[in-house]
Amino acid sequence: MRPMPASAYDLLLDELEKLPGIGRRSAERIAFHLLRQPSTDAVALSEALTRFRTNLKVCSVCGHVTESDPCPICADPKRDASVVLVVEQPSDVVAIEQAGAYRGLYHVLMGRLSPMEGIAAGELNIGGLLERVRADASSIAEVILGTNPTLEGDGTALYLAESLQKLGVNVTRLARGMPVGSSLQTVSKAVLSDAIQARTRSAT
Ligand SMILES: [Zn+2]
Repeated sequence: MRPMPASAYDLLLDELEKLPGIGRRSAERIAFHLLRQPSTDAVALSEALTRFRTNLKVCSVCGHVTESDPCPICADPKRDASVVLVVEQPSDVVAIEQAGAYRGLYHVLMGRLSPMEGIAAGELNIGGLLERVRADASSIAEVILGTNPTLEGDGTALYLAESLQKLGVNVTRLARGMPVGSSLQTVSKAVLSDAIQARTRSAT
């Protein structure tokens, strides 16, 4: 007996289930959502996926998502190549670039270490970072750890600091302070203690 050809529904569920964090139930929810929406939404999604996959690649130097390799930041001779800022996601690069206060290079990890979710060092762009620092030891003077100030971001920073210090490079961590508009009474103890430790000289 020949196997029944898979239905369009099963094909979609199979593809959705390949995505990280999507199980059978989530795949079904997404499929039903797409059926209830106007069909133009589903077409727009499929076109966005095609354009994303056709035009975007990962920068072979820093791991940022880009339309050219190396990315425009790595390829810019005016950037300070002696400093590398390590972040979790491409969106972190975009946010820092919009702030306009940083002129060095980046390294994107594509996530953070998470023992709970089974995300180990091998799944992140950590090997690429160590390789880059090793290969460029004469020009990279400082690696700034810019992982998020969460339990997992801090754990990742600790892991990176230990690995990078063995390579003899200067390792720093982004300062964390009082958010603008907050008050001493309302911020958490962790924020307050970080703000005191990373205090800066008052401008005169
Ligand atoms: Zn790059």
